[in-house]
Amino acid sequence: KNLKTHFPIKKRFLKKGKQFVKAVDGLNFYVNKGETLGIVGESGCGKSTMGRSILRLIEPTEGRITFQGKEITSLNDKDLRKMRGEMQIVFQDPYASLNPKMTVGAILGEALQTHGISQGSKERTEKVQELLVNVGLSPIHIDRYPHEFSGGQRQRIGIARAIAVNPSLIIADEPVSALDVSVQAQILNLFQDLKESLGLTYIFIAHDLSVVKHVSDRIGVMYLGKIVELSDKKGLFQNPLHPYTQALMSAVPSLDPDIKKERIILTGDVPSPSNPPSGCTFHTRCPYKQNVCETVIPKEINVAEGRYVSCHKYDDQYSKQF
Ligand code: SF4
Ligand code: MG
Repeated sequence: KNLKTHFPIKKRFLKKGKQFVKAVDGLNFYVNKGETLGIVGESGCGKSTMGRSILRLIEPTEGRITFQGKEITSLNDKDLRKMRGEMQIVFQDPYASLNPKMTVGAILGEALQTHGISQGSKERTEKVQELLVNVGLSPIHIDRYPHEFSGGQRQRIGIARAIAVNPSLIIADEPVSALDVSVQAQILNLFQDLKESLGLTYIFIAHDLSVVKHVSDRIGVMYLGKIVELSDKKGLFQNPLHPYTQALMSAVPSLDPDIKKERIILTGDVPSPSNPPSGCTFHTRCPYKQNVCETVIPKEINVAEGRYVSCHKYDDQYSKQF
């Protein structure tokens, strides 16, 4: 609820006063148990900061995060550590997130030990081997180092580390963006298989609509730190409402008949989150922009069950101006 993560800009980069990068700027959404919520948006829209803020790897500035009925925004360190076993993250670059000096056995064993899962070393070795098999690797990989694996295999290790501690929620932050296209589908399928066999819930972050489409039940579209549209997958692809969603879809190659073509070409760059445009932050690039868009921040309109869009076109108060 109203999640905000703002970073102060270092003084030496400023002319005067205090300024903030509003990386995450007022997010509202929920994830149902057992589903995959996809979060899509261009790079720099705050997706990764959102993922890290939910786990409190970065402290949010404002707002509330509730998980399994508990408010985690106010947990102390000890309770937060316990909670971290329930919520895990898979990073975009598996190589950067795996210690190059540790064997796979040591990396996974450490995760198990930290969360008090396997006590004795024999039990731990067996559990690590089982994890390797679960992610499509071999038990003999246990003594190898991260550099001895391909990119796809390394991401399998990152996934094994996340599932090692029996989490119920996994935040996957662009887990296939660094991989070859031919490997992407294999890793996405692994995510699907594990979701079913382990009863996982995912928040799946991507910049690529086709990836999000493949894995999600519902999708949130992010622009400059805000979710501008939230919808079930089918509704979003058949009838994208927000002009930004429409623009993202028109950028997808049209082999997919489900992806509706509105042919919107975005002009200009994504504005800086340290100085976001007034009113609707998308107004500098929106082909439907009216005067009201420059001054009034759009409300979150509940257009249908489970569908939300933040755009004045769908607000009874302003829709006649469009
Ligand atoms: Fe475009 Fe206005 Fe809607 Fe923003 S509020 S997306 S500028 S039409
Ligand atoms: Mg990112």
